[in-house]
Amino acid sequence: MLILLTIQVFYAESMKKLHNYINGELIPPVSGDYFDNYDPSRGIPYSLIPDSDKRDIDLAVEAAKNAFPEWSNLSKEARSEFMLKISNRIQERMDEFVKAESLDNGKPEKLAAHVDIPRAVSNFKFFATAILHFASESHYMEGLGVNYTLRKPIGVVGCISPWNLPLYLFSWKIAPALAAGNTVVAKPSEITPMTAYLLSEVCKEVGLPNGVLNIVHGMGAKVGDAISHDVNIKAISFTGGTQTGKIIASIAAPMFKKLSLELGGKNPNIIFDDCDFDKMLSTTMRSSFANQGQICLCGSRIFIQEGIFEKFKKAFVEKVSKSIVSNPTDPNAQLGAVVSKPHMEKILSYVELAKEEGGTVLTGGERVILDGEYKEGYYIRPTVIEGLEYNCRTNQEEIFGPVVTITPFKDEEEVMMMANSTQYGLSATVWTNNLNRAHRVADQLNCGIVWINSWLVRDLRTPFGGTKASGVGREGGFEALRFFTEAKNVFISNE
Ligand code: NAD
Repeated sequence: MLILLTIQVFYAESMKKLHNYINGELIPPVSGDYFDNYDPSRGIPYSLIPDSDKRDIDLAVEAAKNAFPEWSNLSKEARSEFMLKISNRIQERMDEFVKAESLDNGKPEKLAAHVDIPRAVSNFKFFATAILHFASESHYMEGLGVNYTLRKPIGVVGCISPWNLPLYLFSWKIAPALAAGNTVVAKPSEITPMTAYLLSEVCKEVGLPNGVLNIVHGMGAKVGDAISHDVNIKAISFTGGTQTGKIIASIAAPMFKKLSLELGGKNPNIIFDDCDFDKMLSTTMRSSFANQGQICLCGSRIFIQEGIFEKFKKAFVEKVSKSIVSNPTDPNAQLGAVVSKPHMEKILSYVELAKEEGGTVLTGGERVILDGEYKEGYYIRPTVIEGLEYNCRTNQEEIFGPVVTITPFKDEEEVMMMANSTQYGLSATVWTNNLNRAHRVADQLNCGIVWINSWLVRDLRTPFGGTKASGVGREGGFEALRFFTEAKNVFISNE
């Protein structure tokens, strides 16, 4: 027992400790406490995360308040320069960021190298330049005068992000907030804190003024909750689960904070029988299982028109069953590990639920045990289920893993009813070569984003977000800059 304890203490002491980034310094949490950060590909802890609380948020808010006057009064060009430096420095440290993201999250390194980190680089670059072109409105009233609208930064803002695309989504919030002249108190997910920590190193390296960006690590119920409650934080941009969004809104809305909530999804992938079958099939593989199905935009409910249902089922199941599930450093890995043990258990419990609800697992449905050092990792075989009612729990609740259902439909009317039947409304994918139908269906889908004959093609200028329980507000392009500013209309009489 004593030996075990000694080994554990030694192990904990040898692990890298992350620090909070507050007022330009990398510092330990006030509590002095840390908790384990897991490598999901091996199922072992490999670093220690600050167990911060309200006291750390108080320090961060104080720093952000002090930094606000100078940062908001800098010219846009000067702010833009800092952000370009951050972008360039992440680019220079690309390999390190890629490996850190993959290790922390379990995603294949290949994916982090092609999607996550390049996108974080682009986010900073995009908003560094977008702010230079962000114009406000003017409304002339004949005979009376003119209105012009000022767009002022809000002050100290809070950014809270999830684990599925860690740096990608963290930077998607921080970049527009800083570009617009706000100072930021940010909290990455406690499940994937590593690249946010590396970002704080980058901010120091490029000489970002102290207190402009503060990154506080720790649990949602402590650190996130303190952000929601803090009266000095005037706006919160949150991405995460719908339940968490509700909690944040219940605290922040009565305080009249501005809120942007990007929440869960249960997206339909609608396949009509006149589609380009081969393109649809290969894209559907990605839209189902990219990032182990842990992208809020994945299409987890696949609806296929009756005429091609059997053809699709055969081809899809064959392809899925051949997918390579492997450790994230394997260049051949198509799927890596899911993010944590509890999440793996949650996903597998939904497979059991699907069976109880009358579904048939056509392929997958089980944990994969890899060899050697990866044998304790959290791997799940990509899973396809058929035979479920559109309104059962499996088809209504977000699973957020490599699990999809396939359901046949007769016509447009029927599939629209099923597609729009969930509480969510984030995105949808439609496959058809009928132009009129494409427009009609896009118009009727109750969601914020529709891809026709494609998936996850992102133009950073476009509005991003969902309807219903998928969220409130939009991110992206000038929408994000509008969110992170207050409009003030000024009227001047010409009499
Ligand atoms: P989560 O809601 O558990 O956590 C998200 C963040 O909120 C984390 O940083 C967490 O620490 C923090 N948090 C937790 N409890 C909190 C509280 N009481 N107060 C304040 N903050 C708190 O979500 P997750 O499991 O990290 O991410 C998965 C979810 O995110 C899925 O539902 C997915 O659909 C959603 N998501 C949505 C989008 C989108 O753009 N709509 C994008 C990615 C992920």
